[in-house]
Amino acid sequence: MASYDLIVIGTGPGGYVCAIRAAQLGMKVAVVEKNATLGGTCLNVGCMPSKALLYASELLEETEHSFAKMGIGVGKPKLDLPAMMSFKQEGIDGNVKGVDFLMKKNKIDVLRGTGRIVSAGKVEVKAADGKTEVSETKNIVIATGSDVAKLKGIEIDEKRIVSSTGALSLDKVPEKLLVVGAGVIGLELGSVWRRLGAQVTVVEFLDRILPGMDGEICKQFQRILEKQGMTFKLGAKVTGVDTSGKKLKAQIEAAAGGNPETLEADVVLVAIGRVPYTEGLGLKEAGVALDNRGRVQTDKHLATNVPGIYAIGDAIVGPMLAHKAEDEGVAVAEIIAGQAGHVNYDVIPGVVYTTPEVASVGKTEEDLKQAGVAYNVGKFPFTANGRSKVNQTTEGLVKILADAKTDRVLGVHIVGREAGEMIHEAAVLMEFGGSAEDLARTCHAHPTRSEAIKEAALGVGKRTIHM
Ligand SMILES: Cc1cc2nc3c(=O)[nH]c(=O)nc-3n(C[C@H](O)[C@H](O)[C@H](O)COP(=O)(O)OP(=O)(O)OC[C@H]3O[C@@H](n4cnc5c(N)ncnc54)[C@H](O)[C@@H]3O)c2cc1C
Repeated sequence: MASYDLIVIGTGPGGYVCAIRAAQLGMKVAVVEKNATLGGTCLNVGCMPSKALLYASELLEETEHSFAKMGIGVGKPKLDLPAMMSFKQEGIDGNVKGVDFLMKKNKIDVLRGTGRIVSAGKVEVKAADGKTEVSETKNIVIATGSDVAKLKGIEIDEKRIVSSTGALSLDKVPEKLLVVGAGVIGLELGSVWRRLGAQVTVVEFLDRILPGMDGEICKQFQRILEKQGMTFKLGAKVTGVDTSGKKLKAQIEAAAGGNPETLEADVVLVAIGRVPYTEGLGLKEAGVALDNRGRVQTDKHLATNVPGIYAIGDAIVGPMLAHKAEDEGVAVAEIIAGQAGHVNYDVIPGVVYTTPEVASVGKTEEDLKQAGVAYNVGKFPFTANGRSKVNQTTEGLVKILADAKTDRVLGVHIVGREAGEMIHEAAVLMEFGGSAEDLARTCHAHPTRSEAIKEAALGVGKRTIHM
């Protein structure tokens, strides 16, 4: 029987990163993966394919709408959807191969099949051909990720009623796309298909988009998306989809009930969230406790209630983000090695990769109000940022929230082009407990969009220069 210091179940960004860090720390490590390829949701059907399609569809739209005004005459661009899907697949393949390479480089054994915890210290792997093999291990990390949340009474067939997975691989552009859920995934994939020519309507149960993100930023963002042609039905729910005809007929009513209406669509994308995936892992038999939402319960050190079994990523509490999973992967490997691995959950950036992007780190204005924290706000619109003006990409703003007493930055929220790249100076500042004054006095290269961050920081002290 093979014997390891650590077996990680699942090779998403949480699992494979954990395995690499553990190998760096001198452990003998194996990963278990039931999919044909490594890399989990993120690399295969999540972050990476969606970003490939967002990039390609953005360029298509830019070519059509922005090139002429810059003096670039290319005529009306033509969509070749199969070629765009191949572009996406090449990106996936490249990244997945990269993980294979990293496993070899770090001498990590890859056990192919479905992993099941027999008991603390024993993992069984069932291969596709049904053969099983049990390995011994001092430690187990559960990194099995998450799965699509289903909507009661609506059957996903991944053809006409799709999850994000199906929406990443449609073989033609739907005339009408109905997106259920105005979260990150719904808005990103809705944007892709709108740019490729679909009429997109987003139905959201709550009375706002992107729940959990700063309300003011989201209101601006919604206006921008509407200007781009997306339609929103907020405070509404989809109660069923009639699939009998050529067109789908979605029944919609107000979130509180009443006001029924029917919307026609060619494709319905169900994007109401994700749920932890722990099926067939043997957690019950091994005595590993779950919380009331089906997540593996962990303490501050990512340990479950069973000694020697840990859990990370989408399978546990916290934002379902690849970088959160990665950081937990590193932390848990260090904890197992006897070091002080740690994740600062107050500084985890979140990005919506649309155009413009939305990026945010730390507390929202709503969070601070609810916690009764006194704060100052500094804002700066991209319309007043020189670089944005010359590029004619002036939508959006930067908003900084700082503690009224100490000036410590508590949250930064941006809607604007490249916001997802810009947010990290705020994250570093916050990691070091920096103030708005620190940010305002840091020299920013000119002309950059990041100067808007400096100006917003100046705005906290009511002394913006360019407004
Ligand atoms: C469309 C979409 C877009 C996204 N975009 C972003 C983004 O831009 N940025 C971002 O940060 N996050 C994004 N996410 C979320 C991100 O993909 C997840 O947060 C991340 O993948 C979680 O990593 P993980 O390691 O916890 O699990 P996963 O990536 O889900 O990996 C879990 C792995 O475990 C394997 N597994 C499960 N059970 C077993 C078992 N019993 N035996 C063997 N293997 C098993 C699965 O096959 C899978 O490979 C997106 C998600 C989706 C769906």
